[in-house]
Amino acid sequence: MTTISERWAKVSARVDAACRRAKRRPADVTIVAVSKTHPASSVLEAAAAGATDFGENYAQELADKIANVAMAPDLGALRWHYIGRLQRNKARFVAGHVALVHAVETVELAEELAKRAAGVVQPILLAVNLAGETTKGGVTAEGAATAARALAAVPGVRLDGLMTMPPYSDDPEASRPQFEALRDLRERLVEDLGLPLPVLSMGMSGDFEVAIECGATHVRVGTAIFGTRS
Ligand SMILES: *Cc1c(COP(=O)(O)O)cnc(C)c1O
Repeated sequence: MTTISERWAKVSARVDAACRRAKRRPADVTIVAVSKTHPASSVLEAAAAGATDFGENYAQELADKIANVAMAPDLGALRWHYIGRLQRNKARFVAGHVALVHAVETVELAEELAKRAAGVVQPILLAVNLAGETTKGGVTAEGAATAARALAAVPGVRLDGLMTMPPYSDDPEASRPQFEALRDLRERLVEDLGLPLPVLSMGMSGDFEVAIECGATHVRVGTAIFGTRS
């Protein structure tokens, strides 16, 4: 049986190797350990092994886990990320509690996050649906500039960059064109809108090395760290 700490070590080593290939610094890539459906005890195990950033998809589960983990002594400060689609009526569980909300696409959600963050500026990313999959959220590539301009104008949130989730494939290389497209889109938006947009959230267990080669600053890795979800 492989432990969470062994898997974490393996993922970290693979991230470092991908950074070397891409001539990037490992410090510029954040591994978001996606702990959805796994218990707080697994979060603590990963944190003990060195993980600092954790990602959740379900608002209530996030709130419960933050409360649980907060009771554990002697852990450095953990950062939480909300990586799923967020309904407006769940924004209160997330706003002000997470370092980054990865998948925002509407001004209405951004305004609700700002309101619920109670005076703290909430960093957010714009979700982009490059393959036009109807089962997934996110704006189209064509709609990204309009959406980014609108989100950047909402007081109380800060648009930090873009996120994407390519169609599922067994072949990591299948994601490369989408990762390159997100990188290019970010460059265009930086030029056209004059926004800094330093963050690119892309890459999961199956394709995070390719994402790093394409410029990912945040990879969202669940299964490779915590094992399969039931
Ligand atoms: C579950 C999830 C992940 C992690 O997926 P793995 O394949 O387990 O690494 C990453 N991003 C999002 C948006 C997810 O929902």
